[in-house]
Amino acid sequence: MTMQRQDPAGEAGKYGGNTVWVACPDCRTWFPVSPRMQAPAAPPACCPQCHREFMVKESV
Ligand SMILES: [Zn+2]
Repeated sequence: MTMQRQDPAGEAGKYGGNTVWVACPDCRTWFPVSPRMQAPAAPPACCPQCHREFMVKESV
């Protein structure tokens, strides 16, 4: 039996370790976004859980 599963740490490695974790202000779900989302003119992040959009720079 071969155990194959996605390793979250390995996933983050794709982004060169520059992933920023943010928490949804509504459901408190943590999810990774690009550091670019912290830029002043960045588009809002969308929560994968409840699909609420919010500005990353306000949540961190
Ligand atoms: Zn949410």
